[in-house]
Amino acid sequence: MTVLSIRDLHAKAGDTQILNGINLTIRAGEVHAVMGPNGAGKSTLSAVIMGKPGYAVSKGSIMLDDVDITSLPTWKRALAGLHLVMQYPTEIPGVGIDNLLDEALAERGSDRSRLAALIGAEAERIGLDKSLTHRSVNVDFSGGEKKRNETLQLAMLDPRIVVLDELDSGLDIDALRDCARRVEDLTNERQLGVLVITHYSRIFADLKPNFVHVLAKGRIAASGGPELADQLERDGYDAFNA
Ligand code: ADP
Ligand code: MG
Repeated sequence: MTVLSIRDLHAKAGDTQILNGINLTIRAGEVHAVMGPNGAGKSTLSAVIMGKPGYAVSKGSIMLDDVDITSLPTWKRALAGLHLVMQYPTEIPGVGIDNLLDEALAERGSDRSRLAALIGAEAERIGLDKSLTHRSVNVDFSGGEKKRNETLQLAMLDPRIVVLDELDSGLDIDALRDCARRVEDLTNERQLGVLVITHYSRIFADLKPNFVHVLAKGRIAASGGPELADQLERDGYDAFNA
């Protein structure tokens, strides 16, 4: 069974110390929500897990099963089974969604003989106009189309663990429901492990968290079940920012 283990993770963004000892264990099929005030380090955590350039681990480790991925380049982490859905999806002019998936699956050694049919089926399932899958990735897409596209890529690439950095930002309610449900289905159908970063518990109506963590000042300040999200929605983060 897949386990992502983050141990005593300290990290800098540029020259600034942001993460101050994060501990998280995410197992196959589990949904862990990370909530926290602006500037707490949530996006930094997602960047450090994925190995984004410009961020440096100063202490601690990230393990995917028995592989220490702490200092692997991003592409090796992706091949190991990690995937990040970014808060602000990147536009890639000149690269079609279908081309991107073809290359990525070739790199994984996957069978691509039914690729077009599978992309079409996923597009239908996530409510993305099929014609968009031949267009440049995210270029001139609406906010909803971008996140539907990112969710389609997630389903096609079939990672073992995904980090969703504010999947719910820039989305209308229908798109949010469709994307959240698709991820929830992946946790049940393929035992996908999820780290979902969010400000709002609305996403939990469709993507059910097993655990909720509060990230404040670069640390996990509290952990609990879904009831913790209700408490945050009611009381805010004041208690954790002192
Ligand atoms: P969150 O996603 O929780 O809102 P971030 O992880 O984006 O927070 O940012 C945490 C802090 O790190 C902020 O104060 C931000 O300005 C700072 N930060 C983020 N990226 C960098 C960077 N590349 N260089 C310097 N500081 C950064
Ligand atoms: Mg952020």
